[in-house]
Amino acid sequence: MPSPDAADSSRAARNETHHRVVVVGGGNGGISVAARLRRRGIKDVAVIEPRDEHHYKPLFSHVAGGTAPASITVRPQREVIPKGVEWIQDAVTAVQPEANAVVLAGGGRISYDHLIVCPGIQLDWNRIPGLAEAMQTPAAASHYELELAKKASRLLRDLTEGTVVFTQPDGPASCAGAAQKPMYQACDYWRAKGVLDAIRVVMVVPTETAYLAPFDEELQRKIDEYGIELRTRSVLLRVDPDAHEVVLGGQDGPEHLHYDVLNVEPPQSAPDWLKASELAAPRSSGGFVEVDPQTLRHPRFPNVWSLGDAAATTNSKCGGALRKQTWVLAKNLSKALRGKEPTARYDGYAVCPFTVSRSTVVWAEFDDKGRQKPTIPFYKHMYRESRLSWIFDRHVLPWVYWNLILTGRV
Ligand SMILES: Cc1cc2nc3c(=O)[nH]c(=O)nc-3n(C[C@H](O)[C@H](O)[C@H](O)COP(=O)(O)OP(=O)(O)OC[C@H]3O[C@@H](n4cnc5c(N)ncnc54)[C@H](O)[C@@H]3O)c2cc1C
Repeated sequence: MPSPDAADSSRAARNETHHRVVVVGGGNGGISVAARLRRRGIKDVAVIEPRDEHHYKPLFSHVAGGTAPASITVRPQREVIPKGVEWIQDAVTAVQPEANAVVLAGGGRISYDHLIVCPGIQLDWNRIPGLAEAMQTPAAASHYELELAKKASRLLRDLTEGTVVFTQPDGPASCAGAAQKPMYQACDYWRAKGVLDAIRVVMVVPTETAYLAPFDEELQRKIDEYGIELRTRSVLLRVDPDAHEVVLGGQDGPEHLHYDVLNVEPPQSAPDWLKASELAAPRSSGGFVEVDPQTLRHPRFPNVWSLGDAAATTNSKCGGALRKQTWVLAKNLSKALRGKEPTARYDGYAVCPFTVSRSTVVWAEFDDKGRQKPTIPFYKHMYRESRLSWIFDRHVLPWVYWNLILTGRV
């Protein structure tokens, strides 16, 4: 066996460094789990993250809906890197699990004892013909990217008449229900301005109902109240940005709709480099990282773990799920480092706070079978439209995110 010094110099010759735990992606999952590991006393943790900025994405819906300034959704990445964790500002382009190493866009290689894979989900703008082009035009936007969320905010604010179309994609998505959030806020605003009656609002969802059975009644009440046309079992097939027209694919065949404003939640999938990697499940995971959905450990590579939007878990992808997943993963990984079996289990919890007006929220908490799963078990009516939930979602949670979640405290 080579001495540690010899191993170091041989790695240096190959432009390779080594860390005990390497985290791919410094988003919600990566930073929180790295912070939790440090709190557990685990040393030599490195996070690979290419971007200078860290985003709190749940507020993008509020930005588009006109109830939050964009500035409060962003902080410099260096400010959120936990103390004692090394930040490698680069992007992973490939994983070599047999060699316990990842390859970087910058040309280097990092080897690891344990790897946590959480690079999030990929926005597939090019999957729908005309969609990417439409985003360059003045009438289309999306709150799934910050700059486009700012554009959506202006478009929705300035609309006084015409047709606005909101769409949610089929397939995996980060907080899929977020497609609806700016819509309700905009309707509330238009109603206050006295122009709601002059605006035709169409919401396109791939599901059979507005969302999930336990919350449908509450959402449908708001949909009726605002006079929204809900297209169920329908998806965006094509956009013609010059003609301001979308083609929807529904149960009754294609439907052509003129729009004055279009706000799209884009189709999403696992990052391409992950789809091509050995970490993806051989079948049917869509290229997301294969993990035991409870322990979050890879079944074929026991020193590989995954969580968040990039993991092939069974839950609805969201930050609320991560709050539980980071705790489970950090606990299980610290056990594995001590040579023990993982015992902590993630229970499939997810949450989607629907901002159904500019001051109320329908707080939808559910499990991976779509059943209600309230955080406060005896308070089953928490999903009802509520002002208190709004205050929590808009004002309390962002503070909790920056100060407690990203620092591994909750
Ligand atoms: C508009 C919107 C609204 C939402 N609303 C809510 C909500 O109200 N409640 C809720 O619970 N959840 C919500 N979510 C979902 C929540 O934001 C995500 O589930 C969460 O951010 C996922 O965390 P993650 O760490 O898996 O991915 P991300 O937070 O996306 O982080 C992934 C990180 O990996 C980095 N990365 C990407 N590729 C590479 C690479 N090759 N190498 C290294 N690093 C890489 C990225 O730069 C990024 O920083 C919302 C999401 C959106 C988009």
